[in-house]
Amino acid sequence: MKKIVIVGAGSSGLIAAAMMKNYWGNEVDISVYYDKSNKNIAVGESTTPIIRLLLTHLGLSTGELFRELKNGATMKLGINFKDWIPGTEYFHGFGQVPVFDITNTSAIYSIPEKKFNGGMNYNEPDFKIPDKPFEEYDHAFHIDTQDFSDLILKVLGDTVNFVDTKIKSVLSDGENIISLTTEDDEIITADLFVDCSGFSNLLFKHLNPKWNDISDALPLDRAIPQQIPHKFMKLPAFTVAEATDNGWTWRIPIGDRYGTGYVYSSRFLSDDEAREKYDAWLFKNFQVHLDTDRIIRYKPGYYEEYFIGNCLAVGLSSGFIEPLEATGLQIIIQQIQEFMTINSTLKNLEYNRRILNKSHRALYTDVYDFICLHYNTNRTDSEFWRYMTANKTEWVKEFDNKCREEFLDVRTCFREKTFWSIDSFIQVCEGLNMFTTQSIQNFLESKLDKATIVAQAKEDYQYIENQKNNFRKISHKKVLDIIHK
Ligand SMILES: Cc1cc2nc3c(=O)[nH]c(=O)nc-3n(C[C@H](O)[C@H](O)[C@H](O)COP(=O)(O)OP(=O)(O)OC[C@H]3O[C@@H](n4cnc5c(N)ncnc54)[C@H](O)[C@@H]3O)c2cc1C
Repeated sequence: MKKIVIVGAGSSGLIAAAMMKNYWGNEVDISVYYDKSNKNIAVGESTTPIIRLLLTHLGLSTGELFRELKNGATMKLGINFKDWIPGTEYFHGFGQVPVFDITNTSAIYSIPEKKFNGGMNYNEPDFKIPDKPFEEYDHAFHIDTQDFSDLILKVLGDTVNFVDTKIKSVLSDGENIISLTTEDDEIITADLFVDCSGFSNLLFKHLNPKWNDISDALPLDRAIPQQIPHKFMKLPAFTVAEATDNGWTWRIPIGDRYGTGYVYSSRFLSDDEAREKYDAWLFKNFQVHLDTDRIIRYKPGYYEEYFIGNCLAVGLSSGFIEPLEATGLQIIIQQIQEFMTINSTLKNLEYNRRILNKSHRALYTDVYDFICLHYNTNRTDSEFWRYMTANKTEWVKEFDNKCREEFLDVRTCFREKTFWSIDSFIQVCEGLNMFTTQSIQNFLESKLDKATIVAQAKEDYQYIENQKNNFRKISHKKVLDIIHK
């Protein structure tokens, strides 16, 4: 039996424990060491559809999750991006649209006609959800992190050993973790250490990992979170990410409250200025004032590797890219799933290590590129936005060129590690006015089967319209009320 020691019981520690125990069962002995006095970050409330992979490891369906979490979970079908180009909004939904061989054909028809309809069925910010079994459509959740942690603990029961103690010191030879010492002087050894200690990166930093700083392109490095009590008459099935003159705010509907937060860059705003701006935003939107001193400080970036020697870094201890597309828990789930699948014998073959670390870099690169794309607004209305517009990555510049010159195809949008397909890219790019009628014309002119594509485009557009018009939806709130009864 292999001995696995996880340090940290925030979302990453609990998710690692749950997935590994489910995958390896009695082949592993898992202990989680965590310091109760050192609070979890507790802000990962918006998720992506991959959260349902975690549910399968927990043996839960969507309906069971809603029943178990009661007020602690709502449905999420996408993100509404507000004011990224001031005065406009666009929706990035999870629904897929028909792809005819090389691209999202319906967009070829609808964009020049100024009728872009996003995607089929439920691809708009709505207070209703599809009136069909949860299993039949793509979805994610907004979750209360404390309630969700309690649920994971309940599922784990006594299959995993939890120890509330502080890790006082780490002994390492620079290549492996040799042992940990707790504040009670217990010495801990393991076959595999999993560093889930958050930004403190307690174990992994002893293995000299190389840091990839992304702050030139994404300089946002501070967040202020605040929960706002809210009585929902209608329950949104979407997150709102609203751009401001110096960053952006999030708005996540859960139970009887909104989770909100303000993300900004310390290069352009002092903490006091940020508090002032966030306070004004809170008052304008919710008629409440800022009532927290909490400021989360982070370094934007990630480690080039996440598996060195006998130590795996998961979650915030492996890096952090701002939460604009709510990818924190997604990265954790993918990191662990990949590790288990590729390294299923736990023999730590060097070959597997190389594949895993390559895959880890690809995952972070995919997320990084996609997040950078959201800042391709060409705004110049503040020092912050002038900086963002002047400091686009090479990838964004090339991608932008492709959109403006020749639309998009599935190959350009292919992502190795993330679920975002061409639909996601088109929704964001159209939201940022990156397509022109001419670029779509150029795309068509470059195809031998132009006439077929044009015919297909109109047909696919009409198909989506019919779906939207005939699709039955039901109040999100009503569905949850029925489940909770
Ligand atoms: C502003 C912000 C907003 C975010 N929003 C989202 C979102 O909407 N969606 C999403 O998916 N993700 C989001 N994330 C990311 C998400 O919060 C994290 O990925 C997730 O919570 C995992 O955190 P963690 O478990 O790695 O770290 P933490 O929650 O910080 O846990 C660290 C653990 O390590 C333990 N520990 C630390 N030091 C010691 C020690 N010496 N001895 C013993 N134990 C120790 C602590 O007690 C704690 O249990 C957001 C992050 C930020 C910063």
